[in-house]
Amino acid sequence: IAGPDSAETQEQTIETALAAKEAGSTGLRGGAFKPRTSPYTFQGMGEEGLKLLRKAGDMVELPIVTEVLDVEDLDLVCEYTDMIQIGARNMQNFPFLTACAKTMKPIMLKRHYGASLRDWLGAAEYILLEGNNKLILCERGVSVPHTHRSTSRFLIDLQVVPALQEISHLPIVVDPSHATFWRPWVPSLAKACVAVGSNGLMMEVHPKPKEAAVDPLQAIDYETFGSLVIQLKEIGKACNIDVGN
Ligand code: PEP
Ligand code: MN
Repeated sequence: IAGPDSAETQEQTIETALAAKEAGSTGLRGGAFKPRTSPYTFQGMGEEGLKLLRKAGDMVELPIVTEVLDVEDLDLVCEYTDMIQIGARNMQNFPFLTACAKTMKPIMLKRHYGASLRDWLGAAEYILLEGNNKLILCERGVSVPHTHRSTSRFLIDLQVVPALQEISHLPIVVDPSHATFWRPWVPSLAKACVAVGSNGLMMEVHPKPKEAAVDPLQAIDYETFGSLVIQLKEIGKACNIDVGN
């Protein structure tokens, strides 16, 4: 799953969707409602952003995944998206999980950066309990005292992949973009995600990564993404993992 942090322009979403599709991505991600640390920064384009993503996804025939932040926006987001992203910060917002589940849309539940596996699976259970079993989980880095870079807050938890697979049937994808928060590290960690048995990956890809409206330090460009996917498939094959086409 690849795409920009946020939908910015129609050109940007279509171009990125084309690059993602060409490289072999099976889903397009992009934000329209953004959970920003500071209220004074770009908050996403709202419905306009959803339209940009929908059009780009339709053009290249990729399903889209986008975050919904608030139950008030749920109907609107569901009109446009194929899959709902529940972000790290909402992982234990239990009435919200229930409301999202009731839409019966496929859901990607990101792990809160302070959540144990037990907390995460408890949250997943709120969704399953509504009879919505179209659920995938997404590891996106956990908070630790040392992340090896003074500007970053998270460390990728690769160990959670086999730990989850040992006790749950739910598919897990890993997001090395938010976990590393640092573009130069995304390819090597993405490779580790495949090797450790992750069922998928989600990465931020942008036409001009340094100019991305959100998360400009972590997005990778089309070229890096394309060559990375080729390597990921090789690693998948070497590890006997089904890597699709
Ligand atoms: C995102 O995927 O853009 C995002 C905000 O992720 P998280 O909820 O993991 O911080
Ligand atoms: Mn982001």
